[in-house]
Amino acid sequence: MGFRKMALSEKTLAALDGLGYHQPTEVQLKTIPLILQGENIIVRSQTGTGKTAAFGIGLIELLDADQNKKALVIAPTRELAVQIGEELKGLAREHHHKIAVVYGGQKIDVQIRQMERGVDILIATPGRLIDHAERRTVDLSAYSIVVLDEADEMLDMGFKDEMDRIMGAVPKERTVLLFSATLDELILELASTYMSGTAETLELGEKESAEQITEDFVQVSRRKKFANLKRILGQGEYRKVLIFMSTKRGVDYLYERLREIGYKADGLHGDMSQARRERVMESFKKGKTHILVASDVAARGIHVEDIELIVNYDEAQDADTHIHRVGRTGRMGKEGRAVTFIESREEEEKDRSRADHPDFAWMKNGGRGSERRSFEGRRSNRRQREQSPELKSGQDRRRRPRAHEKRGRRNYGPAKKRK
Ligand code: AMP
Repeated sequence: MGFRKMALSEKTLAALDGLGYHQPTEVQLKTIPLILQGENIIVRSQTGTGKTAAFGIGLIELLDADQNKKALVIAPTRELAVQIGEELKGLAREHHHKIAVVYGGQKIDVQIRQMERGVDILIATPGRLIDHAERRTVDLSAYSIVVLDEADEMLDMGFKDEMDRIMGAVPKERTVLLFSATLDELILELASTYMSGTAETLELGEKESAEQITEDFVQVSRRKKFANLKRILGQGEYRKVLIFMSTKRGVDYLYERLREIGYKADGLHGDMSQARRERVMESFKKGKTHILVASDVAARGIHVEDIELIVNYDEAQDADTHIHRVGRTGRMGKEGRAVTFIESREEEEKDRSRADHPDFAWMKNGGRGSERRSFEGRRSNRRQREQSPELKSGQDRRRRPRAHEKRGRRNYGPAKKRK
């Protein structure tokens, strides 16, 4: 079924045509009719499936039918908020709905002026939205349609309090559209508190993209990670590689080392200015950079097509983050590969005994030494979470199981495990 059969306005159809969206994706096909009927929905759907356009088209049509309505989209990170804004502006270009995006890290005055011009669809990160609500530069009681995008990420990042406050301030008579990569008990509990009346639950698409991903787990000592990475990169003519690290220092360290050995690599983390992050993303998207080393927070919500290889240089903190990371390859039916380094004490021991051997004496000085030092520096805070600016105040973080606590089911979710 094409978009034409979905009872959409001519304006939306024209915008879709302009964007080159000719056929709806599964999530669009299944959710748009429900959104148009004003249903609450709970959707399990990964990034890369067209979910932004699904709720975007729905919101634009609902607002078109009732000019007094306003919609609020809450997203965990500024990157995701900005991307949702871009997508919605494209979809609404014939309608001229006023769309504003507000997130932490940008000057609030700019955002306040934008709000003063009037807003129909507001896209916001939770912390900054609370900030605006406190300053009374936004009146949340005017927003009767709420989209919670990547709700699992928002919980993971400790935004539960902020979400509760926001949902307490929007009208009681509201429609809630919740999207999440995973639907576990916490998410379903959240949905039931935020939604009144009934809700449709849809679990979409995981299998389709999942079977395209081959995943390897490599037991490695910390100091051998870089050598292993070089070997893996040398196995293919990779043009788009995304490497995850757990710390900002790690990101800087690794992309610089990759540059030293001739790779077109760049880094992305929360300490960089918004402008610089956008430049880095642009050049990765366009294929000018081949390797992007990123922290989880910075990489969340990134929409880059055709990522061929994901490397979890540092293990994810929990299973959901792992699934999220790996889900960035093999999208839209393409094949993908993921490699996860698992730091192993056994390998560490082996290294140590080899290092005493005369052949390995060189490892004790020179370039290797600097690698060891810098890794030792981050050992103590290896698990420390990175925080986006708006997260720093939100201390109430509900902890989820970490990846290593779920090691018994390593081949969970989408990935195929290669022996
Ligand atoms: P999302 O799941 O929202 O991250 O979307 C992933 C990508 O798919 C985005 O780059 C969209 O521009 C693109 N996209 C969304 N819907 C369609 C469609 N119906 N046809 C082709 N591309 C689409």
